[in-house]
Amino acid sequence: MRGPVVEIDLTALVHNYGVLVERCQGRPVIAVVKADAYGHGAVAVALALEAAGVHSFGAAFLSEAVELRQAGVKKPILILFDSPKPEEIVRYSLIPIARNETDCQALSDYALSNNTRIKIHVNIDTGMGRLGFAYDECVDKLINLTDYKGIEVTGFMSHFSEADLHSRAFAEHQLDRFLEIRKIVSPYYKSALWHFANSAAVLSYPASHLDAVRPGLMLYGANPMACKSDINCDDFLKPVMTVKSRLIDIRKVSKGKSISYGRTFTTQRNSLIGVLSVGYADGYPRSLSNIGRVIVNGRYAPIVGRVCMDLTMVDLTDISDINETDEVTLIGSDGNCKITPCDLAALSGTIPYEIVTALGRNKNKKYLNNFA
Ligand SMILES: *Cc1c(COP(=O)(O)O)cnc(C)c1O
Repeated sequence: MRGPVVEIDLTALVHNYGVLVERCQGRPVIAVVKADAYGHGAVAVALALEAAGVHSFGAAFLSEAVELRQAGVKKPILILFDSPKPEEIVRYSLIPIARNETDCQALSDYALSNNTRIKIHVNIDTGMGRLGFAYDECVDKLINLTDYKGIEVTGFMSHFSEADLHSRAFAEHQLDRFLEIRKIVSPYYKSALWHFANSAAVLSYPASHLDAVRPGLMLYGANPMACKSDINCDDFLKPVMTVKSRLIDIRKVSKGKSISYGRTFTTQRNSLIGVLSVGYADGYPRSLSNIGRVIVNGRYAPIVGRVCMDLTMVDLTDISDINETDEVTLIGSDGNCKITPCDLAALSGTIPYEIVTALGRNKNKKYLNNFA
């Protein structure tokens, strides 16, 4: 099979869930499992978290929620982004998140004509600028949602724009806006859950924990705070995803020879060059060319030359006893060496979210400690 092997450690996932529950003092956790649980496999992740007692799930689109239901996931599932499709919402017993009055009207009409009532959450745009009722003109609209007799509003949410919470000033504005609205609107919706906190907020902004939290990345053991925070997640979160590749050739290359496209690397000595069966088509960033590294036999091996579509070359000259059957770690640890999604993100100018979702698309997955 092409591409790297992605190993998912479900015990690490459940460990991280436990840390999370402690950090937010037992509040309900809405586990975000969009994009196939950030590349970790939504079904396996959701079943493991359900067994661990999670409150509910956040999926991006209807199709993701249906996949979870068909796999036997029982807990409530919120649809974060898709426009609500009332028929499927009812059929699969899902919770839509309304973004405007049109959504509410459609859901209410459908419910009334089918003699049912649909529970919904409502998105308020406090500054993310993406989806939801505009914070500065929504109070009356939100109160008037009580007129739609086919829906029952059981939650209100908003989302931070400075998602890594590096600069807190705007996040504080957003939270203040949300709390202002809550003060006026919550008497009309006594049992509604108000939720705002993503992973970085769970870890570093307790005032935003409110009635429930809505983390994604930290469950998967990666650092949501752009790797530069005072909070060292590696001390208490366990990485869930390990990514391994294999050597398809080991070549003796003499001094002064160029390696890969564009001749951006020339051997400075007689070298042992390993050819890995992974490339940018597998979600391994091309921007790691000449700056990334992998782990072989408990030692770091630098990437030399450009990362290709299917192949990547590494310098194995300083590593002893190399065999073509040796495992090559792209993300994970081996001996005293460790590479995190954050490390790759920092080197390739992106965020750990993009690293895990891209590599997680590989089909070749192994689950350790499966709960299903
Ligand atoms: C992705 C997402 C989250 C989770 O964010 P993390 O930074 O992964 O914790 C929460 N809420 C919404 C609306 C999201 O889109």
